[in-house]
Amino acid sequence: MKRIWSPWRMEYIENHEKQEGCIFCNALARPDDAENLIIKRGKLAFIILNLYPYTSGHIMVAPMAHQPSLEFLDPDSRAEMMELVSQSIVVLKKIYKPQAFNVGANIGEAAGAGEPGHVHLHIVPRWAGDTNFMSTLGETRVLPEALEQTYKRIKAGFQR
Ligand SMILES: [Zn+2]
Repeated sequence: MKRIWSPWRMEYIENHEKQEGCIFCNALARPDDAENLIIKRGKLAFIILNLYPYTSGHIMVAPMAHQPSLEFLDPDSRAEMMELVSQSIVVLKKIYKPQAFNVGANIGEAAGAGEPGHVHLHIVPRWAGDTNFMSTLGETRVLPEALEQTYKRIKAGFQR
């Protein structure tokens, strides 16, 4: 497992379970969205739950197109990604009532991207002091909510 520092401080966890191919394209190609943690499919972009969340409600927005960086996408894909980020913030605010958010991307492996071939934006709800109770014990992150529960809540939030 690689440990590359990034300003978003969570992507190294994505390297924990390496699967064949791209995690985003693999999830898109499979029919069961719940099993693959896809929250919402748009036309040119989609929302997916992070399998190894930094905090509860940590989601990612990625384009349908397998491209390593934003400048390779068409403007419509970029616009839809930003729209999905914005919708995600609205939904996450209602469900988790976070005090703040980190929104951003690790572009390229040296920046800490877990899937450098497919650009994605992280949306991480934050609370004052969350780095304390979310402290890392070896490889295990202590999270207050099961992933399945997070998926159900956010999915429902988008359907409302
Ligand atoms: Zn991909």
